[in-house]
Amino acid sequence: MRIIADLQIHSKYSRACSQDLNPYSIGLWADKKGIQVIGTGDFTHPKWLKELKEALKETKPGLYQLKDKSAKAYFLLTSEISSIYKQGEKLRRQHTCVFAPNFAAADKFIAGLEAVGANLKSDGRPITGIHCDDLVKIALEADKRNFIVPAHVWTPHFGAFGSLSGFDSIEEAFGQQAKHIYAIETGLSSDPKMNWQISGLDKYTLVSNSDAHSLRKIGREANAFEIAEKDLSYNKIISAIKNKNPKEFLFTIEFFPEEGKYHMDGHADCKFSCGPEKTKALAGICPVCGKKLLVGVLNRVAKLADREFGFVPKNAIPFKSVIPLEEIIADTFNVGTGSKRVLEVYEKMVGAQVSKSADKQISSSVEEKKRSDVHKTNEFEILLDLTREQIAGISSREIAEAIIRVREGNVNLDDGYDGVFGKVHIFTEKERSTLLRKPKQMGLF
Ligand SMILES: [Zn+2]
Ligand SMILES: [Zn+2]
Repeated sequence: MRIIADLQIHSKYSRACSQDLNPYSIGLWADKKGIQVIGTGDFTHPKWLKELKEALKETKPGLYQLKDKSAKAYFLLTSEISSIYKQGEKLRRQHTCVFAPNFAAADKFIAGLEAVGANLKSDGRPITGIHCDDLVKIALEADKRNFIVPAHVWTPHFGAFGSLSGFDSIEEAFGQQAKHIYAIETGLSSDPKMNWQISGLDKYTLVSNSDAHSLRKIGREANAFEIAEKDLSYNKIISAIKNKNPKEFLFTIEFFPEEGKYHMDGHADCKFSCGPEKTKALAGICPVCGKKLLVGVLNRVAKLADREFGFVPKNAIPFKSVIPLEEIIADTFNVGTGSKRVLEVYEKMVGAQVSKSADKQISSSVEEKKRSDVHKTNEFEILLDLTREQIAGISSREIAEAIIRVREGNVNLDDGYDGVFGKVHIFTEKERSTLLRKPKQMGLF
């Protein structure tokens, strides 16, 4: 069974996060998105941990479900720690994810953090002075099965390789403890193809998670595993990540990196962005205001790369680039993602009944059989699996065309930079005006 897992999100107790992020709504949205395993986020926060313990029960080894059974998704205990400290005369700021196999292991890890003076109450993603290597020690002393993943490694401010705070290798960041790092999170502004340019990263499994700060962003990046439902457990997921075996770890689901808000270099206030070459020519200075440009992910990757773009390492896990369904609908209508029309169509689509079989020419006896696999679809099934006809059947042929184009990578992107998200364009202005001229033919429109 394909298991889609998003192992980094935040709760309502993290800074700048939606108050709607409670266990029940997270479960509901995981189901809508087609996520089978969702990170809890923020388990180091005392109030959130209490809510999780009240709402969840362990139904598979190391995996939890809502006690009231209002959602199918399994929860895996995840947290993210912010470390800020000085090393080698440079201020280091890094986010590191720690996953735990059960509440007991989470409690011990929390006790370890408190023992070194960490204030966990202040934020769902606590800010500490704990060095990366010490963090690994604390996590593993608490429980050997705790699993450590450097978060969004390329982001300028808080990534292990970030332009403002980072290191040039996992070894430099984690020292003696680097041997306990098996995976790194690529973040929204980079995809595996960019990371494959760096031979030093071949030994790590590249994972992708949403780092969602609100419900609708859950699953914007994720991981797909092949695990039999009877075998599903915390250990099985961690070993699938550690083993990096393409039979177990099928692919990651990625943002187009250009859409990420730190892809290119630039200065948001001046609406100026550019690539690494131009930044070099400008000596890193914004040509509009004279301030420093924020050096983005593409630039950092280029600095550390020792291979050409396009190189595929032998043991690489493949990836699929997607655009969240709401953005696809919004682009088709040429309206904002939050608009009423988009939300209505989205809800209709993710709640629609579909058959696993796309074959319409079926005899009645077969039809009988197929009726049984009619089920409520979800966002990932729509984005990844359904045929053009099936998608058109639950929306319109234009939306189906848009989804097929995204699958084929047939999109235009404005690059993100300095905290400004990039933009996706699936249809050209001309195409869209022709489409919108015939609203009556467009089913749900
Ligand atoms: Zn983070
Ligand atoms: Zn400027």
